[in-house]
This record gives sequence, structure tokens and C-alpha cells, in this order.
Amino acid sequence: MIKRKNTGQLIIISAPSGAGKGSVISGLLERDKKNLWLSVSTTSRQPRSNDIPGVTYNFVSKEEFEKLIEEDYFLEYTNYVGNYYGTPKQAIKEKLDQGIDVILEIEIEGAMNIKKLVPEALFIFIMPPSLKTLVTRLKNRKTDSKDKIIERFHTAYKEINEVTKYNYVVVNDELEDAIDKVESILKAEKCRVDRIEEVYLDTKEEEIHELLMDEDFDNDSLSGKID
Ligand code: 5GP
Repeated sequence: MIKRKNTGQLIIISAPSGAGKGSVISGLLERDKKNLWLSVSTTSRQPRSNDIPGVTYNFVSKEEFEKLIEEDYFLEYTNYVGNYYGTPKQAIKEKLDQGIDVILEIEIEGAMNIKKLVPEALFIFIMPPSLKTLVTRLKNRKTDSKDKIIERFHTAYKEINEVTKYNYVVVNDELEDAIDKVESILKAEKCRVDRIEEVYLDTKEEEIHELLMDEDFDNDSLSGKID
């Protein structure tokens, strides 16, 4: 009866550093390996011990990044806490054309740039349960210097006020519960009427007529049931 658009959905997930969006996204990808793809950004920041080049990010120098900007390689890019981060354009287009949903794990400025370019994209904000949790998580990561942690916390604090620019907000208190919620949002989005390409009648009018005129279908059997 309905034909849905067969292009994938562009999903933007942002969160302040330490809100646990990486774990939420890993959980989502674990549950749907076929139809969900996480875009790999390019960055000029130094790899951390837990980074895997080509998987968590493509790492390039500042100069290489600036060359890529000139070549129009990015859908969007930003300078965040002193480093460049950018979303490659081509790979995303290919996945969406194949009907695969694409997740961009990006910060707010980049997300708002995408909103201008692709207003129909889905914007989800992952919120930490409290500021104290955020500080604890940032400290426990042991990946940044004290100065960087303070800078990240200040950025995070400002970012929390931007939540109303998103379509959905999910508090990451209990991880599995947060993953369930994001998964439900993605399912619901698939049912939106603006993802319908065509509404059609799946049975010929004559066949419907025959069904309605079927002799087993006796008007008397309805008597008393309809006023
Ligand atoms: P981190 O250094 O912790 O890996 O990332 C810092 C911030 O940059 C995070 O909020 C992350 O979501 C964001 N980020 C990662 N890739 C991109 C990107 O391609 N574009 C933008 N705008 N932000 C990104």
C-alpha cells in the first residue's frame, strides 16, 4: 500500500565529551550490523592510545587537512579544542544511496552546519545524567592532560545548552536503556510519513468489488450490529 523511500537516513549524534556517546553508538552498531554505518571522520588531532587509525578516525596532519578542505572533500568540518575534525562527503553519499543509515558522531557546530545542508536529517543529543558524572568520566578516561580536560569540560558545559536544537535527547544514565531509546527513535523515524514515496492500491478495483459482492457476505448477518 505504501512505498517508502529506499535511501538511508542520515543520523547525527552529538554529546558533550564524556557523555558516553561512543558506547551508545557501539551498542547500536552491535545490534544492527547490516543497515547502520558509522562514518569515519578525518582529524588533525594526535591519536590516543585507544584510537585505531582508519577505524576511529583517519589521522592527517594540519597541512593535509587544509589541503582536503581546498579539494572540497568534506561535507562539513570544524576546529574543535584546537584540532580539525571533518566529515568526508563521498562515502556518506554512497552508503545513503545503498539504503544504509549513516551515523555521524560530531560536535554541535558541525551538526548545525549539516542541519542547513540536510534539514531532513535526524538529530539526537546524548546527555550525561549530571555534570558531576561528566567530570568523573572525563578524568577516568586518562587520555587527556589536565588542561585539556578542563577545556573539554568548559566546552561540554556550553554544549549542554544547545540541546533544544536537536530532535531528540536521550540521557545516558544506564547504557543499555540509552541504546534501547536511540534504537526506538530510529525505528519510529522509519515510519514517518515524509519517508513515503508513493501510496498505491495493491488490489484492482474489480477484485475489491467482487470481494464486497461475495454471496457469503450476507447483509442480514450484520443486522442488529449496525444502526
Ligand atoms: P574527540 O577528540 O573526543 O575524538 O572528539 C572531539 C569532538 O569532535 C567530539 O564531540 C566529536 O563528536 C567531534 N567530531 C568528531 N568527528 C567530527 C567531524 O567530522 N566533524 C565535526 N564537526 N565534529 C567531529
